[in-house]
Amino acid sequence: MARIKSEDFINSVADSLQYISYYHPLDFVQAMYEAYQKEESVAAKDAIAQILINSRMCAIGKRPICQDTGIISAFVKMGMKCRFDSEMTIQEMVDEGVTRAYTSTVNPLRKSIVAPPMAGRKNTNTNAPAVVHVEMVAGDELEMHIAAKGGGSENKSKMAMLNPGDSIVEWVRKTLPTMGAGWCPPGILGIGIGGTADKAMCLAKESLMEPVDIHELVERGPANTLEELRLEIYEAANSLGIGAQGLGGLTTVLDVKILEFPTHAASMPVAMIPNCAATRHIHFQLDGTGPATFIPPDISDWPEISMQGGTDVKRVNLDAITKEEISSWQAGDTLLLNGKILTGRDAAHNRIQNLLLEEKPLPDGVDFNGRFIYYVGPVDPVGEEVVGPAGPTTSTRMDKYSEMMLNKMNLAGMIGKAERGDATIDLIKKYQAVYLMAVGGAAYLVSKAITNARTVAFEDLGMEAIYEFEVKDMPVTVAVDSRGQAVHKTGPTFWQQKILEKASI
Ligand code: SF4
Repeated sequence: MARIKSEDFINSVADSLQYISYYHPLDFVQAMYEAYQKEESVAAKDAIAQILINSRMCAIGKRPICQDTGIISAFVKMGMKCRFDSEMTIQEMVDEGVTRAYTSTVNPLRKSIVAPPMAGRKNTNTNAPAVVHVEMVAGDELEMHIAAKGGGSENKSKMAMLNPGDSIVEWVRKTLPTMGAGWCPPGILGIGIGGTADKAMCLAKESLMEPVDIHELVERGPANTLEELRLEIYEAANSLGIGAQGLGGLTTVLDVKILEFPTHAASMPVAMIPNCAATRHIHFQLDGTGPATFIPPDISDWPEISMQGGTDVKRVNLDAITKEEISSWQAGDTLLLNGKILTGRDAAHNRIQNLLLEEKPLPDGVDFNGRFIYYVGPVDPVGEEVVGPAGPTTSTRMDKYSEMMLNKMNLAGMIGKAERGDATIDLIKKYQAVYLMAVGGAAYLVSKAITNARTVAFEDLGMEAIYEFEVKDMPVTVAVDSRGQAVHKTGPTFWQQKILEKASI
């Protein structure tokens, strides 16, 4: 009978979460590097370069890969011959480990969990509770798979009750484009098939804990129907041309993982959960002899990539920006932003909306007239940092505030990640504004372009407060220009056609 000390379990959880906050799994880095090497789309290749540069910087600097340090999913397999030395439940112990990891003073992580999920949505300030699945298994060891899952990718999860005999490949082919780019591709698709609706979702999530190894499968060929399906979905997904960050390109998914379970004769539940550019998970075992140890990887395993920075990059001074200059930008242009920008995301927009509805004044300093807003919720800074990792959040969540911000606030432009909805694109055109995108999953790299940061309003919202950032050469792409041209529409269409043509040669 193995007796596991609760303190060992808690420390293992805390150490594992710190570890995965700054070390990508090496198999993921290698797969991303392969995608970088074979990518032909300039915009997608540049986005992958930023993800890889960011990954190496985080491994060296031991700072979070992404500003969204995730919601914790834990899969605990507890040996029937294991016991804990404590009265604490497994949920309580995991939550204590999460709290210790996220409130670290050396590498503080962003706390993103709010409770209750509907009315109130108050930050728990610990990033707990975690979502914990416990299974009793044979043996005298405890096995744990733990992941920190970004909200952007979790939000794109899909589930369908297909009919027996329906094509799962077709369902993925139809569903993936509806997920947009808010899940920060390229990443991994986790597919769960069978069981019940809830079981299929759990299987999809658990499948994402497996290593990236599709290249081995491609080389040796499939040995069973599940492996055949993996390859078919992998090829179907990449033939869509969605590409890195939805900019259009050859690689949309780095791997497809599948787990299955027997199901009812009348049913075929299928779930799909994407893992993003900030793929973070790890596996450890405890047998009662002490906490798990996590050996730092060798930094030389990361590719050293430098940004190409072509001659057509435009350096922009946002402090003296004019409508004429904005209208000269074309969708797909690369800009280096300089000057002051304001930040704001869901909660700040909601507050502004409420103040306007109540005909109350905005707080001092909140003046968006002729300025740019950056959708971001940064990590707290440490040491000499001006701000912690500060990458963009998914812009579509702010679409419902576009009329208010562009019309009533006279905003000049917006910076975020992924596509905009059609109504927002029309508003951008109407108000001669612009939407710029930064690379999701390159948060530490982006933060190095921020030279000054101060809180302007709504300080109580924590990471959702309005800040003013001063930026120097912050790289962005014009995603929707003032004529309404949108790279997230033109890029994938172009690359899907190109991939089709290649396949038919
Ligand atoms: S890489 Fe994108 S989806 Fe993933 S955690 Fe970061 S912002 Fe969210």
